[in-house]
Amino acid sequence: MSIIICQHTILNFQTKWKSYYSWQRYDEDKYFMYYVACSDDKKRNGIVKVAQNRNFRRSTLERHSSLPDHKAAIQAPSLQKPPLFLKEKLSLFATNK
Ligand SMILES: [Zn+2]
Repeated sequence: MSIIICQHTILNFQTKWKSYYSWQRYDEDKYFMYYVACSDDKKRNGIVKVAQNRNFRRSTLERHSSLPDHKAAIQAPSLQKPPLFLKEKLSLFATNK
């Protein structure tokens, strides 16, 4: 399996969207995005870990955000903690040129 994706795309992807979509995450090993809330809640929609979504468009996230599944997932009590973010990993990207 070969995936061509440039690091700048990944960086943009992370930094621009994380402020809008706090439950969205990026898997740097396999290059896909997912929503941590829906994944933890074992939802079956397009942006969970098992779906390995690589459709890196904001509209994808927007559509996902309006799903009842997603809304239910982010209200799960176990998830009411601040999302931890990718600061260490971002700096890793920055030095890895
Ligand atoms: Zn979701």
